Amino acid sequence: MDCRETRALIHGYADGELDLVTSLEIERHLPECPDCANALAGLQAVRAAIKSSVPYYQAPPGLAGRVRSSVRRATRADRTPRLGPGPLIALAASLALMTAVGWGLAHILRVPGDDAFLTRELVASHVRSQMLPSHRFDVVSSDPHTVKPWFEGKLDFAPPAKDLTDQGFPLVGGRLDYLHGRPVAAIVYQRRRHTINLFVWPSSPADDAAPAKASRQGFHMLRWTNSGMTFWAVSDLNEGELQEFVRLIQG
Ligand SMILES: [Zn+2]
Repeated sequence: MDCRETRALIHGYADGELDLVTSLEIERHLPECPDCANALAGLQAVRAAIKSSVPYYQAPPGLAGRVRSSVRRATRADRTPRLGPGPLIALAASLALMTAVGWGLAHILRVPGDDAFLTRELVASHVRSQMLPSHRFDVVSSDPHTVKPWFEGKLDFAPPAKDLTDQGFPLVGGRLDYLHGRPVAAIVYQRRRHTINLFVWPSSPADDAAPAKASRQGFHMLRWTNSGMTFWAVSDLNEGELQEFVRLIQG
């Protein structure tokens, strides 16, 4: 992340509004850049000054009730018909149209929005596991007979764990994660110096789907659904080798 991007995001960072990956990128930039670090210190100083010196007033008792009753009076007064039926029908029609357009938009946006949110969560989890060694594994083992049973009793499904050492993708461990609003398994594989996080959680068998590509912030992702399990492989490994990994997992 450069100074321009950091400055554009620094208010959000100071307010704790950024996602984990972006926050970490800013945290990497700040120690290297006195100018941006000063900008943040300035923001924090202003905030501290506002917090300590701006007076805080308690609303007088009964104010909320008075506001509510005056809103009710204003609404009643507004209901007095001032318009003839023509404009009222037009108004109702345009309200109905706005609602219909709103529903349509919500429908069109819902699926990609969910996906964007999920890929963001997946990348955040992958990056967190790379940057914080304590988040990398809950169980460290190259033995599927150790990794697989470790999840028993911790999840309501049995994630598959395969050893692919001979194919050049050694299993290195696993951990529990919380993604997509549910606990999921993350099975961790290695390819040279690259880590592959294979996220697994149950889905409906009706959702079976062949691998599809996605990428975000320089990470490659392949998702597929098979026999009632959704899989997401996330890595900074090149796309070709990640596809090979997925073929081996599926095979
Ligand atoms: Zn900077």
